[in-house]
Amino acid sequence: MTSRDPILLTPGPLTTSAATKTAMLRDWGSWDADFNALTAQVCERLVAIVQGQDDCVCVPLQGSGTFAVEAAIGTLMPREGRLLVLVNGAYGQRMAQLTTQMGRSLRVLDFGETAPVDPAQVAEALAADPGITHVGLIHCETSTGILNPLPELARVVREAGRSLILDAMSSFGALPINSREIAFDAVIASSNKCLEGVPGMGFVIARRTALEAAQGRSHSLSLDLHEQWRYMQRTGQWRYTPPTHVVAAFASAIGQYEAEGGQGARLARYQDNCEALIRGLQVLGLKPFLSAELQAPIIVTVHAPDHPAWNFKDFYQRVKAMGVVLYPGKLTAMETFRVGCIGAIGRAEMHAALTAMGLALADMGINV
Ligand SMILES: *Cc1c(COP(=O)(O)O)cnc(C)c1O
Repeated sequence: MTSRDPILLTPGPLTTSAATKTAMLRDWGSWDADFNALTAQVCERLVAIVQGQDDCVCVPLQGSGTFAVEAAIGTLMPREGRLLVLVNGAYGQRMAQLTTQMGRSLRVLDFGETAPVDPAQVAEALAADPGITHVGLIHCETSTGILNPLPELARVVREAGRSLILDAMSSFGALPINSREIAFDAVIASSNKCLEGVPGMGFVIARRTALEAAQGRSHSLSLDLHEQWRYMQRTGQWRYTPPTHVVAAFASAIGQYEAEGGQGARLARYQDNCEALIRGLQVLGLKPFLSAELQAPIIVTVHAPDHPAWNFKDFYQRVKAMGVVLYPGKLTAMETFRVGCIGAIGRAEMHAALTAMGLALADMGINV
């Protein structure tokens, strides 16, 4: 890590390694064979992370993760299809919003902000509405840190004969998603979460059959994944200007991921970060919002201290002055803040963050 860079506990963008940053110090031509080979190689390695074979293809897309979610739904769902979105936080709500905004039929099953999605209720909802063709699920709801029960939900969706579109933005690469065990039509993620790249591209791992069937469905020119895929197959190139430096950094980040030991090793490091964080928060008298069994080792939501001197902006500025950047809360009903466990960080950075938080609280006169 460059010493001047802050520790970003704000996934994402998140803290990236020096090697990932350095990989951006070169210009690439978008038509160049070397760059096209780099893209192809990034896609192949992303498919390998979900143990995908010929039945899975990776389509990269310019933009942040939301662009890829919007592209996946717009491309894979028939115009007359209906999406059931399973909501338990802000990212589920966003998926619902973008679906209606593109004029597709939508149903929402809302579980509030404190509970995981319940497979039994999903099974009921699917049985009650035969018009539902697709189900949208957020794997880890980053707005709270809740982990939704993916294997059980994927089974319910498959048994009902519907297609699963999975937003695995904040879990891909760290939590296991095996394409041979989980029946999905699409898994969506981006460069700047658990694979620790810089922001600028999303990607969709799609079932080849689902993507092949999707020609002409998209309402959008630039978010048409089928066209992006076909064009890339034909030419090796991205359809429109690629985020060249982002792809180069991502290739380096994926190389570091593989060298670290892949998914299992990444998960172990994040679990260690998460445990160190939660232990340290408890020492400071701060309470995590979720119980341990709901908590994914990705991001921890913390109750704001119940103290008259509490003010998140003030706390944030004090912690930031010590080189650590936190995230505001995203809950509607209660005051919280969030601390990420992901990025090119380990226990030393978590301890530095906890020290900064403790000093900031003391300076604010908050004794919790
Ligand atoms: C980060 C994230 C997204 C995408 O957000 P962007 O700001 O568009 O990158 C979508 N879903 C989840 C669960 C996320 O964590």
